[in-house]
Amino acid sequence: MAVLTFPGGIHPPEMKELSQNASLERMPLPKTAYCFVHQNLGAPPKIVCEPGDMVKTGQIIAEPSGKVSVPLHSPVTGEVKEIIKMMHPVQKKKLDVVVIERTGEDDWQLMDPIDFTTAGQDELYQRILDAGIVGLGGASFPTHVKYTSTMVKPADLIIINGAECEPYLTIDHRFMLEKGEELLNGLRILMKIAGAKKGIIGIETNKPDAIENMRKMASHDGNIDVVGVKTKYPQGAEKQLIYTTTRRKVPAGGLPIDIGVVMNNVGTAVAVSEAVSKGIPLIERGVTITGEGINQPKNVLVRIGTPVSELIHFAGGYKGEPGKVVAGGPMTGPALTTTETPIMKGTSGILVLPKPDKQPRPTKPCINCNQCVEVCPMALEPNFLVKLCEAKKYDDAVDMNLLSCIECGACAYICPARIDHIKTFQLTKRVYKALKGGK
Ligand code: SF4
Ligand code: SF4
Repeated sequence: MAVLTFPGGIHPPEMKELSQNASLERMPLPKTAYCFVHQNLGAPPKIVCEPGDMVKTGQIIAEPSGKVSVPLHSPVTGEVKEIIKMMHPVQKKKLDVVVIERTGEDDWQLMDPIDFTTAGQDELYQRILDAGIVGLGGASFPTHVKYTSTMVKPADLIIINGAECEPYLTIDHRFMLEKGEELLNGLRILMKIAGAKKGIIGIETNKPDAIENMRKMASHDGNIDVVGVKTKYPQGAEKQLIYTTTRRKVPAGGLPIDIGVVMNNVGTAVAVSEAVSKGIPLIERGVTITGEGINQPKNVLVRIGTPVSELIHFAGGYKGEPGKVVAGGPMTGPALTTTETPIMKGTSGILVLPKPDKQPRPTKPCINCNQCVEVCPMALEPNFLVKLCEAKKYDDAVDMNLLSCIECGACAYICPARIDHIKTFQLTKRVYKALKGGK
């Protein structure tokens, strides 16, 4: 039988071998934690601590400020030293950071554990919100918000995204090998909240050991399937993995819940399990530190707020002269301007690439080869879209479904003219939304 997949896509070098066999290690606690207040999509939470306050590990330091917002918890036990501004690597502007100097080992402020088998849906939903959980695959969308919609529209299926299609990253792979029970527990909790009868864990076939392990662990759950899917980028994009595993299509401009589905990342499901069964809020996450420019690629459990420089040191430091340090994978992750940037809830990896021998080739005019059209997983025409965007024909670009672009970068990757489609699309989307009165 053919391996399940979606139309379009590309096959960049996987580069997983650098770190895929490195077992999870827990990093030492940072001396100082730098906690960006805005770590979730939506409204930033409101700071509820001030310099001089002593805080425990897990104590709330910022409270949600709207429906699409989550609390932020102290990742260490210590003293709030100051609230400073730092350059946010994703939002590209200076934003508030609570600086906490650690005074010792963890003195925990935990929530009461909940037995999910007897708890009600509302109690479990509230716990996910109280624990500050966001999508840990990189999007940082508040997890509880996905389940708010299940109270209005029913979901019959929860999909756990174990594709991990970005080259280099291996943290979800390790979680599926080493935290499989927590992952399944988290999936069962999410299914209960949504009232979903079925769960699927979708895993790319380049992780056969993870597929085997999760199948063995889920063998007693008659309503959970572990599905192997073709290794192809961007298999882990939400709409693509839903189509691959179910043949259901999310309508243009719609959401997965419109077709009865909610999708969460592997790390998110593990965080849900920790929050419900142990009462631990989201103060730590799994991160792959990898790339040809690092001495010892690793998969680590690291406290949120730990400077990237400490992670690089923990992984044996730079191998040669570093060229670029990226937060996340090479296809979609932003390049960091400083390694003093802290790990955030959405940081799935730190990729260190060595300085290239040659200068990158310059951009050339489009040669109309159509390759970008062939690989686009959203069936768009990136070549024409770029031309419309550059001509500032924003309405025409939107008519040609610019807003459906998931910014996967497949078009730019394949383009022989080295055209940076994504940069143009991101800029145009921002300008278009501003012109239409959005943010
Ligand atoms: S970045 Fe957008 S246009 Fe380019 S391949 Fe991905 S979805 Fe298609
Ligand atoms: S891949 Fe590049 S050169 Fe080829 S049609 Fe698309 S934009 Fe033009």
